[in-house]
Amino acid sequence: MMPTRQGSFRLFRLWGIDVHLHWSWFVVALYSISTRIPNYASPVWGVLEYLALFLIVLMHEFGHSLASRSVGGQSDQIVLWPLGGVAYVNPPPRPGATLWSIAAGPLVNVVLLPVLFALWYLDHLQGWRTASQDLHAFIRAVLIIDVSLLVFNLLPIYPLDGGQILRSLLWYPLGKARSLMAATLIGFVGGVALIGVAMWETSLWLGILAVFLLSNCWRSFQVARVLRRMEQLPRRPEFACPVCQASPPIGNYWRCRQCGQAFDMFATAAVCPHCGASHETVTCPDCGNAKSLHAWDVTLRDV
Ligand SMILES: [Zn+2]
Ligand SMILES: [Zn+2]
Ligand SMILES: [Zn+2]
Repeated sequence: MMPTRQGSFRLFRLWGIDVHLHWSWFVVALYSISTRIPNYASPVWGVLEYLALFLIVLMHEFGHSLASRSVGGQSDQIVLWPLGGVAYVNPPPRPGATLWSIAAGPLVNVVLLPVLFALWYLDHLQGWRTASQDLHAFIRAVLIIDVSLLVFNLLPIYPLDGGQILRSLLWYPLGKARSLMAATLIGFVGGVALIGVAMWETSLWLGILAVFLLSNCWRSFQVARVLRRMEQLPRRPEFACPVCQASPPIGNYWRCRQCGQAFDMFATAAVCPHCGASHETVTCPDCGNAKSLHAWDVTLRDV
């Protein structure tokens, strides 16, 4: 239940990143703008406020994308939809790189704070308040939007930024799998609490968001279990992935590219025992990179 390119159209491309807008955005935009318009004398400001909200969300997502790229990760797509924005980032599987890619999003909101405060202060100083009530209300609303987005995104509910930051911090002492497991368990508690808040506030929107977060949290918990099981498999120390340095597990975890049967690449020197097909490369079960068996052999490496 994540927005994808399907159902969205490309708005523009900036720094090699495609920004897509999901169709459902328009439905919610109409509703959301209609609730903002009564706060202003002129309805134009209600539209501007909603656009400012999405501009901030977009800048936040660009923070994730550009940070992920700065540490050698991939990022080429941002999708905006009613629940905010999603930057499709794929930082290298290291805690530091992941932490920076995630933290850069909320950092954008932090950087915006003094700018918006300055505008707000200027507004008071210049007496714009008397000049235009609407401008005053607009600056105030945008400031509140930025603070709310910052606070909400930092909640430790995986996969919100706060939950992902917590996960990358736990990655150092707990490792890749157990940190994800711990972060998703904390996320469950937070998600259930959020449902409680939604019921208390009788907020349908918050309820939908909480259910969305919980379902994503559950999926990530399943991923953590698979990662954990993989970590516990017996390994072959004489081989190591040239990309992620993980030793391969012992067992039939590879499929023959010719006959499709499962076998152990490292027990047969990458030759399928069923059909005799020889494999040029061996895919790493941990990071997905395919390298020659020669490159995997630790004993052949110069230290
Ligand atoms: Zn974010
Ligand atoms: Zn085969
Ligand atoms: Zn690997």
